[in-house]
Amino acid sequence: MFGDDTHDGPPLHVSEEALRKPAGATVGADGLVACVSCGTRLSAASADIVGQGYRCPRCTHAAHVEALASGRSDAGSHLSELERTNLRNAARDLLMFGGAAVAGGIVLVIVSASAGGLGLKLGMFVIASGVGMLAFGASKRSAAG
Ligand SMILES: [Zn+2]
Repeated sequence: MFGDDTHDGPPLHVSEEALRKPAGATVGADGLVACVSCGTRLSAASADIVGQGYRCPRCTHAAHVEALASGRSDAGSHLSELERTNLRNAARDLLMFGGAAVAGGIVLVIVSASAGGLGLKLGMFVIASGVGMLAFGASKRSAAG
């Protein structure tokens, strides 16, 4: 059992994205790496690892202070470029559909304002859904950095 390297289960799939090394994660011939934020060259052992590559402790501290001061996290810097792009696309879709839902809900409320009843409630529900999508989309866009 132990020390046996054979695997009888289903084939394991590792995505190409997980195996792709970001451009910022290149180790130079001198064994040094460049900080993805400021470009300072330092040893890989003293660098922090973020989604874009290596980052020097000074830039990591600056990012943490900035996150505390602004209330915005620097989570985006820990994501790969593809993950950030996917997050931005998801945010764009949510903002688009949220805006359409708010507009559609307002139309529904106006149309059924005189009749009242179910149409009015449905319109309010659609507006509330749209506002939720807008808020969620905005938070995704902010997280993408
Ligand atoms: Zn730096």
